[in-house]
Amino acid sequence: MELRNDLRIAIEDDEGTWTYSALHARARAIAKTLLAEAPRGANGPAAASSLGGERVAVFVSPGGHFVAAFFGVLMAGGVVTVLSPLHPSREMLYFCDDAGVKTVLVSPDLAPRLEEVARGRRVLGTDDPRFSEPADDAVLPALAPDAAALQLYTSGTTGKPKGAVLTHENLATQQRVVAEAWGFGEGDTLLHALPLHHMHGLAIALLTALGAGATIRMLPTFDAQRIWNELPRATVLMAVPTMYTRLLAAFDKAEPEVRAGWQQAARALRLATSGSAALPVTLAERWQSIAGIIPVERFGMTEIGVGMTNPVHGVRKPGHVGLPLPTVRTRIVDDQGAEAASGELWIAGPSVFAGYYQRPDATRDAFVITDDGQGPWFRTGDTVTRDGDGYFKILGRTSVDILKSGGYKLSALEIEEALREHPAIREVAVVGVPDENWGDRVIACVVPHEGREGECASEPLRAFAKQSLAPYKVPKQIALLGELPRNAMGKVQKPELTRWLIAEWL
Ligand code: ATP
Ligand code: MG
Repeated sequence: MELRNDLRIAIEDDEGTWTYSALHARARAIAKTLLAEAPRGANGPAAASSLGGERVAVFVSPGGHFVAAFFGVLMAGGVVTVLSPLHPSREMLYFCDDAGVKTVLVSPDLAPRLEEVARGRRVLGTDDPRFSEPADDAVLPALAPDAAALQLYTSGTTGKPKGAVLTHENLATQQRVVAEAWGFGEGDTLLHALPLHHMHGLAIALLTALGAGATIRMLPTFDAQRIWNELPRATVLMAVPTMYTRLLAAFDKAEPEVRAGWQQAARALRLATSGSAALPVTLAERWQSIAGIIPVERFGMTEIGVGMTNPVHGVRKPGHVGLPLPTVRTRIVDDQGAEAASGELWIAGPSVFAGYYQRPDATRDAFVITDDGQGPWFRTGDTVTRDGDGYFKILGRTSVDILKSGGYKLSALEIEEALREHPAIREVAVVGVPDENWGDRVIACVVPHEGREGECASEPLRAFAKQSLAPYKVPKQIALLGELPRNAMGKVQKPELTRWLIAEWL
């Protein structure tokens, strides 16, 4: 995967603008410095010829310096692992130790946060004077398509985050097919406020836009007011469902004249997408009431990038994640691995990752080889189904969202969707706790809208759920909460919620 080298504007951040060639020159200088500093034999050449897959951590605030650092590591033959200011030090330390990071590239604003993470590692500031020197003379290694490029950690929704190793080919495929599916081009300006340490913000948003030669307006963090105010200059917005919730809340609070301007900008967007977690249908429809059309929802994973997407032109189905990208092969299988109408989703194709770093057992468990030569298949761990038009619907992660109660298999996401229709409910997460009689006892954790707690008593909510759900799907209990535990991507951390219910609530 390569960075373009032309005079188009690539990045607009709060400090200024970067052309593609300015980024390219700086990335090259970073690569040259990394190679000069890499350990080599006493009588060896002045610089190493390649970092040879060494993991280099990039701990840089969103903006041009982040992109230059990212491609600088790649140009030197290194593998990027991204640290985020959203991580507590303890987690940063876990990622760096797990990946065997010896060098960290850090922006000056984040340097104080490195603390114990820096100990025993080489730290280079993105303000290093060598990075602004011309480096046309740098001798850089050739990069094989199957060489590792990125070690990205999964969100840790179901357990400890795993380091997924993605190759240059994985990322280049992503860049190409996502850009094609979403019609990305040089005329686009992407408004970017997603965290950069996950597939969504890093590859699906940033790398796709860079690959297409678009301009990326990078904001330091997500701030609903700022997003609305910057929207008129953007053609594309990519967000997670909780961001849409916050955008709509800000919209509701704004003065009517401000709102009219924001609505106009939302209607003028070429494309708004949603992913990382299920987009509630009610939320999609609220967005539609302002922007005129629901967001394009898609399914993705750290291990595969985008798998399926609703079409940009064509029917977007609420509650569905659309059709596979042209390079993605899919299979839905039952517990025995036989094809089924609903079951686990398996995925194969050139965007599927190489394996979990130094976890041969987890990697082995994650892949299935079939006799038909269609694999190797990556077992996503998600339970899905498909409608008559081939559109996929995500029923949830098999390990946390697919519950077994009284002999029935239930989808937590389906129950959440039904409860969310209740006007007093702001947020809901459905989990199962172990129960002698039921297997999983289904509990709905409900966050009421302010001042509407009184409408969320257990029996009336259960009666409401019964109107749209089969009796066995109705939650046995309702727990009222002030908020749901969520990670940086806005995903509800269900194992944590379940532990809390068992320890403190039941
Ligand atoms: P971990 O693998 O560490 O437990 P994680 O699975 O949340 O965490 P990611 O790779 O960031 O880590 O997320 C991928 C998962 O996100 C998918 O397996 C799926 O469950 C969920 N997901 C992504 N997009 C959607 C969507 N549009 N609808 C529903 N679920 C989605
Ligand atoms: Mg996962």
